Amino acid sequence: MLYRLKNDFRLSIITLLGISGFLGVTPFAVLRFMQGNVLAGTVDATILASLGGAMAYAWITGDTHRAGVLMAVISAYGAVIVGTIVGDPGLFWLYPCLVTSFFLVGPRYAVIINLSAITLMMVIGLAFSSQEQMWSFASTAVVVSACAYVFAHRNRSQRRRLEQLATIDPLTGVKNRRSMDEELDVAAANAERSGLPYALVLLDIDHFKSINDEYGHGLGDTVLTELVALLESNTRRSDQLFRYGGEEFVLLLPGVDGVNLRAVMNNLQQVLRKYLKYPGGPVTASFGVALLGHGESVEGWLARADNALYTAKETGRDRIVYAEELD
Ligand code: GH3
Ligand code: MG
Ligand code: MG
Repeated sequence: MLYRLKNDFRLSIITLLGISGFLGVTPFAVLRFMQGNVLAGTVDATILASLGGAMAYAWITGDTHRAGVLMAVISAYGAVIVGTIVGDPGLFWLYPCLVTSFFLVGPRYAVIINLSAITLMMVIGLAFSSQEQMWSFASTAVVVSACAYVFAHRNRSQRRRLEQLATIDPLTGVKNRRSMDEELDVAAANAERSGLPYALVLLDIDHFKSINDEYGHGLGDTVLTELVALLESNTRRSDQLFRYGGEEFVLLLPGVDGVNLRAVMNNLQQVLRKYLKYPGGPVTASFGVALLGHGESVEGWLARADNALYTAKETGRDRIVYAEELD
């Protein structure tokens, strides 16, 4: 439970808001009933039950997006209803809701929820004791929303940039080894569930060191980016390419086995032989290919592709070696 709270930001916000909503609204619900204001008490109780329901939904299903939208809508429109029934308190409650909606949903949705709640509060008008109060509310609520929007937008673009830095290889622009580990886990889980075959290709450029030694590191870099361009333009959109390290790459091919796999691999080998060149001649690569076995671990799968690559190198390079199929 603590692990989920620590690793899922949206779930932790939903939980925090659910609990603080519960602590903050419960005394008012009790107070309203004690004052004999059954309508306001029922509204508070309904808000409490809905917040609790959204929180439970997030924990049970893991669908924090839908739960976040639910929570943002319930709290913002709940504040509007409270404002309409009992006046000022609804205005005050709307302010924290205007800010927290940016934690619960994307910035655009939060703007829509906020502006519609502010407008609704003004159109109904019952929460205000004067025109001046209404317009003061409108301007301060819009200022709060605008500041929260700028903050949320900035936060989101910085998070995306960080994600990119952590998962993309800067030289070639393909995913790095870290994201490969994640994608291979996803592939193995998907294979287990759906039975879709997955092939893993480990590719290593032959005698790459001598290209660097003879023509410099810059030219070596160009060969790497050209290799990536060739691989990407000769594979399907659903195939994924990763830089495993140095001049080694991994291709993850979903949905191919048998004759198809061999055709894909022969084509890639031909393309590299034909188009991958440096001033000293053609550049070739060796390939180790392994199909994921039933129930096989990702480590075992990679190790079989690695052994196949080793055999390809040992037996003369510029060749494709297929690991023995497990079942
Ligand atoms: P083999 O056929 O056995 O694979 O020989 P090789 O020379 O390709 O392999 P080796 O592992 O001996 O050398 C790999 C070289 O790749 C050594 C390293 O300097 C170079 N290298 C690793 N990363 C980069 C890079 O980002 N750019 C360039 N230009 N070279 C790199
Ligand atoms: Mg090499
Ligand atoms: Mg190597």
